Amino acid sequence: MPPIDPEPGEDDKLHEECGVFGVWNSIDAAAVTALGLHALQHRGQEATGIVSYDGDRFHSHRGLGLVGDNFSEPRVIAGLPGTRAVGHNRYATTGDTVLRNVQPLYADFEFGGLAVGHNGNLTNATALRRALVRRGCLFQSTTDSEVFIHLIAISLYSTVVDRLIDALKQVVGAYSLIALTSEALIGARDPLGVRPLILGRLGEGTGGWVLASETCALDIVGASFVRDVEPGEIVIIDDAGVRSIRPFSREKSRFCVFEYIYFARPDSMVEGRAVYEARKHIGAELARESHVPADVIVPVPDSGVPAAMGYASESGVPFELGIIRNHYVGRTFIEPTDVIRHLGVKLKHSANRAVLEGKRVILVDDSIVRGTTSQKIVEMVRQAGAAEVHLRISSPPTTHSCFYGIDTPERSKLLAARLNIEEMAALIGVDSLAFISIDGLYRALGEGKRNGDVPQFCDACFTGDYPIPVPDVTNADNRQLSLLTESR
Ligand code: SF4
Repeated sequence: MPPIDPEPGEDDKLHEECGVFGVWNSIDAAAVTALGLHALQHRGQEATGIVSYDGDRFHSHRGLGLVGDNFSEPRVIAGLPGTRAVGHNRYATTGDTVLRNVQPLYADFEFGGLAVGHNGNLTNATALRRALVRRGCLFQSTTDSEVFIHLIAISLYSTVVDRLIDALKQVVGAYSLIALTSEALIGARDPLGVRPLILGRLGEGTGGWVLASETCALDIVGASFVRDVEPGEIVIIDDAGVRSIRPFSREKSRFCVFEYIYFARPDSMVEGRAVYEARKHIGAELARESHVPADVIVPVPDSGVPAAMGYASESGVPFELGIIRNHYVGRTFIEPTDVIRHLGVKLKHSANRAVLEGKRVILVDDSIVRGTTSQKIVEMVRQAGAAEVHLRISSPPTTHSCFYGIDTPERSKLLAARLNIEEMAALIGVDSLAFISIDGLYRALGEGKRNGDVPQFCDACFTGDYPIPVPDVTNADNRQLSLLTESR
């Protein structure tokens, strides 16, 4: 049974689907936001946008492509005046990247303007959208995030914050949300805190504040980390400072464990853990669980590097860069021709024969999605003369789709949902294959073991244990409903 190839334009990775950034009280709010979005580029590369407020009017610039493609010209930043701004990076499933879906979304209300950027996915968006359309709401985009705008618009509460709370109480799903009004910058996280959101400060005494998906966006703008926005918390930043509201009853957090494995940037601190260290610990645990005699430990770059370092240090086998990544493959091949697509991973990776020839190689990667990339990388390593190839994966097998804001193929396309480990190893062409166990993953993150009643993280793509209901998914086998809204 062959792996199922990605569609044209897709690669064989899970994708974080959005990054958000907001700034309050900075002279160069739009430029600061562009820098923050640049640091969050790994969370979405297909579109980006900034909305600023100058004390009188809102200004918006949104475009397809990278932050650098859209915000490097001074005239664009000059067109976004004001000391407050919010921005958004978006990854969209293939074919759905159109300008009307690019965030932040903006709307004028009776109370004034409101810009909203959302990271996550609403799992009752289809039902809500149907109900809203029946009530006469006219949707401008196909994103689930627009549901927030309409729920706020029809709310009978008077203040923006009360309307937002009213909206949040009707949605089901994962969200880290930033909103900008004429009065305040607002951040909100879903009650289980599945997606990250942090609060930073722009400089003691300046009254400047930042909200961002990850701490790596603070360093680039010279802000310091204050704290994570807590699950279920709404943070309101205005001229009086920072206020916190807790409209939901407190629940145990279920942060996305895949952020530690792959999504977050390795130099970020996430929920009190350094991502880089977490990945090294995961690699070390993987070595304890599944080491075999070998001559070199080789990461699949870039994401496999920290785990491979941890693996090498635990096993005592030398770490070598046996695969070199070409960092200059980019927009040129965004719509690949058949010929270029056939070249596959060779565009991005090449084998370092000097390291691999005649060696027993342990390849370390972060995940297997469809298996197509793994298959091609293993073939490349064998062609470079490796005597044995053993593949070690720093996540448990990805057996289920994510409905909380990560672009995952349908379950039927996930290799680990279709084959057992021996079958996967045979298909990928390795001498042995092992994944970290779910308990090993929890151990590596310092949690002892997975709490079966209420696990410490969301790990649904490995276990099928979905912490938030997924009402828009109707089939018992977790096949994705073709959502009326675009999955994002
Ligand atoms: S299902 Fe997986 S990728 Fe999605 S939020 Fe949960 S752990 Fe993260």
